[in-house]
Amino acid sequence: MRVSNHRRAGVDDVFGRLDEIRGDLTALYKDLHAHPELSFQEHRTAAEVARRLGDLGFEVTTGVGGTGVVGVLRNGAGPTVLLRADFDALPVLEQTGLDYASRERATSSDGSDVPVMHACGHDMHVTCLLGALDLLVDARSRWSGTVLAVFQPAEEIGAGAQAMLDDGLLERFPRPDVCLGQHVFPFRSGAVGMMTGPSMSAADGLKITMFGRGGHGSQPQNTVDPVVMASATVLRLQTVVSREVAGDDTAVVTVGSIRAGSKENIIPEQAELLVNVRSFDERVRERVLAAVRRIVRAEAVASGADREPEFEQLTRFPLLLNDPDATARTAGALRAALGEKSVVDLPPAMASEDVGLFGTAAGVPTCYWFFGGTDAVRFQEAVAEDAVAERIPANHSPHFAPEVEPTLTTGVKALTTAALEWLD
Ligand SMILES: [Zn+2]
Ligand SMILES: [Zn+2]
Repeated sequence: MRVSNHRRAGVDDVFGRLDEIRGDLTALYKDLHAHPELSFQEHRTAAEVARRLGDLGFEVTTGVGGTGVVGVLRNGAGPTVLLRADFDALPVLEQTGLDYASRERATSSDGSDVPVMHACGHDMHVTCLLGALDLLVDARSRWSGTVLAVFQPAEEIGAGAQAMLDDGLLERFPRPDVCLGQHVFPFRSGAVGMMTGPSMSAADGLKITMFGRGGHGSQPQNTVDPVVMASATVLRLQTVVSREVAGDDTAVVTVGSIRAGSKENIIPEQAELLVNVRSFDERVRERVLAAVRRIVRAEAVASGADREPEFEQLTRFPLLLNDPDATARTAGALRAALGEKSVVDLPPAMASEDVGLFGTAAGVPTCYWFFGGTDAVRFQEAVAEDAVAERIPANHSPHFAPEVEPTLTTGVKALTTAALEWLD
């Protein structure tokens, strides 16, 4: 009790600075929200981050793993704490109606013109990390060690963390002793949600091309119809989880896109499926992926295809393992600083993140948590009426709109508190 009171008084002093910078952080958040950038195209965002890190006195390195930015603050002997924020946006047409809504468009990696929106809240992650760094700089007489701030590109395509590691993140900069990060999600704002152990699912994104033999729509007997082939495959894939995964294991197989043909009287040459697989266990993951490949090949054979289907791995996210000891320690600090009721335990999330790659590569613990972005009263009403899914727009929705406060304040405080817990 004495320890936590002491600690609470300590971080409260550190939080005082937040009142001075809240207005600036709010303006930054709205500016980032209005100017989202797609994965590996985050040039404007990276420049803004680099400029602010420089102003705070960090050693700044840009272009790490493409558009990534790394800031280092050395403040005497002690542990190195990696604080991570991702900063890419999504090809989504914003429909929030906010006065700072995005009107941006960009060219996606396949060459198409797409709308862009911060539909996953990474603009909030950047703002909260910059706010936390400001507080840590302000309070530097109270801790010692090194802060390694990692602003990561391309989380949405599961490529940015690996790109930064491949570009020498662990060799060119101080090696971390712990990796910390957070994600805003549709939960009551002001609250932080902790997960421990296997916390976010592994994810595989696959593009599958099935080959038929095209021809005239009036003469199906002279063709191998890839539309029927793909349709049968989609239905059969529904049996992977229901018939091949044990009841006490979990997995998801989703066919998110099916594309074939252009005209009602032409049987096309091929069909394309985009498939998403989620799992919490490497054994289950391998089993599900093998089943998907087997079913796709077998349906091609069943249709009489002349050519084997082709598989392309589009994305691959690791399982996020929150180290139990590191999570317990961080959660204790958050409870002391934010209040017991503001920190809740959450079950594992069927969503994916590449943040875990940093800790895995460095061989050190990761602690990654969620913080709420939805008005608490509105959220509570939706819970009471069992209507959260219908009423509260989730990440990746065109209506996803975290309320700026108290979300921003909570995110800054959580990250600052966690960093201070791990610094000397
Ligand atoms: Zn996302
Ligand atoms: Zn995200």
